[in-house]
Amino acid sequence: MERTCHPFPILFAEDNAISRKIVESHLGKAGYEITSVKNGRKAFELFRKNFFPIVLTDWMMPEMDGLELCRAVRNHESEGYVYIILLTSNDKKDQVVSGFEAGADDYLIKPPDPAELIARIKTGIRVLELEGSLKEANEKNRILSITDPLTGCYNRGYLMEQLPREIRRVRRYGHPLSLGLCDIDHFKKVNDTYGHQTGDKVLQIFIKCVRDTIRESMDWVARYGGEEFIVACPETDMGSAQVMMERLRETVAQRSIKAGDTEIHITVSFGLTSFDSHTPDNNVSAENMIRQADRLLYHAKNQGRNRIQAGAL
Ligand code: GH3
Ligand code: MG
Ligand code: MG
Ligand code: MG
Repeated sequence: MERTCHPFPILFAEDNAISRKIVESHLGKAGYEITSVKNGRKAFELFRKNFFPIVLTDWMMPEMDGLELCRAVRNHESEGYVYIILLTSNDKKDQVVSGFEAGADDYLIKPPDPAELIARIKTGIRVLELEGSLKEANEKNRILSITDPLTGCYNRGYLMEQLPREIRRVRRYGHPLSLGLCDIDHFKKVNDTYGHQTGDKVLQIFIKCVRDTIRESMDWVARYGGEEFIVACPETDMGSAQVMMERLRETVAQRSIKAGDTEIHITVSFGLTSFDSHTPDNNVSAENMIRQADRLLYHAKNQGRNRIQAGAL
């Protein structure tokens, strides 16, 4: 039988076979995806393999009881919040308190009334949905916080955090990394002649050219300053990076960009640097790479622009 996948599957632990069947059948009929086991130990074993956002558990069970299961679930690092409902035959205050202290979110007296059980599960789902929307909002914020709004590439904040991480990672495996600092030539003139909006469009088109050129899975580009961008190419030696930057340089130079009735052409200069396994450790840092790329870029500009100046770190 094909099962529809409920977004909030329930893990149910109950040692009494009859009680288990009854709850299973009610929840199954109500459309929930429920997996039942006969004690806490089995529940936790399963939980460690598959995440369950809702755990419904009996209190008294052999091997691992409901309280131990609550604690185990709370101590386990899960992909999201787990809403735990404890089933108990005893609603004495101190019992209820110890259930909450063990990590339960709610409790129900056994045998649970089916309508009430479903209502409590729905309360749990509201909590889980709230968690989901918070996570989504957080993720959107995280992406916004590392993105340059004009071009959609990474911003400087991301560059300064990611580049040292990337360097450490490739260095650990003795792999190379290349870094290109790209600066649009005479960009001020574009703004002065065609207006700031056209300037903005040029920046967007440049980033599109970069995206079309770099390896999507590995390389990344960040806006370093106004019309300056850094392309990071992990696992890439100087020779390969040079070929790639040359392709980018040519693509940009050949591209015509509509600005009102006219078409404009831009060029880009590059400072390109790399390290490999032979580069001494104390030379290899994000700051040194950017400084070296900047120096090389300065030479590229002095030698006539629209060119790549490459040099080892
Ligand atoms: P060079 O070839 O030496 O790099 O000359 P350049 O004119 O490109 O360099 P300069 O540093 O003199 O000018 C950079 C210009 O980039 C000036 C600034 O107004 C412009 N700029 C920086 N950020 C933006 C932006 O977001 N949008 C637009 N339209 N222009 C920008
Ligand atoms: Mg029991
Ligand atoms: Mg500049
Ligand atoms: Mg420039």
